[in-house]
Amino acid sequence: MAIIITDECINCGACEPECPNTAIYEGAEDWNYSEGTSLNGNVTLPNGNTLEADSEQEPISDEYYFIVPDKCTECKGFHEEPQCAAVCPVDCCVPDEDHVETEEELLSKQKFLHNE
Ligand code: SF4
Ligand code: SF4
Repeated sequence: MAIIITDECINCGACEPECPNTAIYEGAEDWNYSEGTSLNGNVTLPNGNTLEADSEQEPISDEYYFIVPDKCTECKGFHEEPQCAAVCPVDCCVPDEDHVETEEELLSKQKFLHNE
């Protein structure tokens, strides 16, 4: 499953540079699919939606750092454990029960994001 940042986040920013998929953004920041991935141009997402990879998307939280579920692979394909959870000083990076995925799905997402 993806990881989610709870409202216990103290906005320290420690997690953001650790994400191998650039799935973490500061609160109120626009995000896109191309940043930190090999996606570019017109892409069809695994859910069937089509969009421009570098088109700006609405922030998921205006108050706290947030994780884009479509870009989070739980660090599969890169690390043994979620790096955001490993560095977070207040342990507020937790499994997202609304985005439960198997290891196979996470690895396939990682391949999709990085075109391997
Ligand atoms: Fe990024 Fe890994 Fe945290 Fe997901 S679990 S947001 S891929 S650092
Ligand atoms: Fe928030 Fe934890 Fe990330 Fe710091 S490391 S910004 S407290 S989620």
